Amino acid sequence: MTPEIRIRFDGSNIPGGAETILGRSGCGPDVATVEDVPVLRQVVVWVTLAKSDPRLPVLLDLLKQYGEDPLCLHDDRYTEEELDTARLLVMHPNRQCELDGGVVWGMTYDLSAACPACGTGGQQTSAVFFDGAQLADMEGYRAGATYFYHILVDEGIAAELLTIGATGLFFRNVYAVMPDKRQVKLRWRQMCAARTLPPMSPRTTGLIRDQPCEVCHRNGYFQHAQHEPTRIVYRASDLRDADDVNMCWENLGYAALKPDLRDSVLSYPWMLVTPKVRRVFRDAGVTSFNWFPIRVDESAE
Ligand SMILES: [Zn+2]
Repeated sequence: MTPEIRIRFDGSNIPGGAETILGRSGCGPDVATVEDVPVLRQVVVWVTLAKSDPRLPVLLDLLKQYGEDPLCLHDDRYTEEELDTARLLVMHPNRQCELDGGVVWGMTYDLSAACPACGTGGQQTSAVFFDGAQLADMEGYRAGATYFYHILVDEGIAAELLTIGATGLFFRNVYAVMPDKRQVKLRWRQMCAARTLPPMSPRTTGLIRDQPCEVCHRNGYFQHAQHEPTRIVYRASDLRDADDVNMCWENLGYAALKPDLRDSVLSYPWMLVTPKVRRVFRDAGVTSFNWFPIRVDESAE
C-alpha cells in the first residue's frame, strides 16, 4: 500500500501557466494532467504523487510562492495482491456508470423496522427503478450503480456471481422508467446483500459525520479525504459471520423522510465484498468501481 496525495490547482493565474510549476517541480505527464476548462475559466491541474515522493514538497512550496491554495486529497494505492488477499473490500461506485434511481423513480421500502426519524435501516421491497433517459449512458458498461449505491450488473456478471457461489448474495430486477412512464425491464440485475455487518471500529479514519440523524446516529457519513485517507477498520470478532457480499451498518449521506416516500431522501450503505467477488468484476473488465480493502483489528474484543 502506498499513501499518495492528489493535488488540484488552477494553473491560469500562474505566470507562464501550469508548466512553470510542473516543470520546476519535475512533474511530467506520468503524474500530472492539465485541462483547460473554459466554463470554469480555469486550467485544472491534477498531480498525483506518493506521499514520500521528493517532488511533493517542491511542488507545494512553488504553489505557496505563487499564492495558490491547492486542494489536497489523501488516498492509498493498493497492489493487486493486496486487493486480492483482503478480508473484505469496499465497493465504491466511481461515477463512470452512474444512474439516477431511487424512491423518486418509484422504488419502495418497508420502513416498519427503520429509524422513524430518517428511514435508515428500511428494507427495499421493489425492483430498482431509474431514469430511462440515461439508458444510453449504460452502453459499453457491464456494471454500475445508482446515485444511492444500488449496484447493478448485467446478466452475465450476475450468472458468474452465482457460479462462484458467493454467499449472502441475492438479486432484484432492474427497470428503466421511460419519459412516457413505461417501465422497461432490463437484462440487468441489482446485486443485493442479505445481511448487514456490525458497526465499524472507531479506529476507522477518513469518514466525516455531517448532520447525522439525531435519533439513530446511523447516517451522515461522508468520505472525506482532505485530511487523511479513508481507512475502514473492523474488529476481527465482528467479521466472523461475514458473507462474500455484505452491507455496512453505517449509511452514507443525508436522509430526509417525507410523508410521501417519493419525496424523501434516504441514506444508503456501502457494499463490502470478498476478493472472490471482486475477481468476477476484474475478469469482466469492469472499471466503474474503486475497491479499497478494510483493515482488521485483531486486538479488539
Ligand atoms: Zn435515523
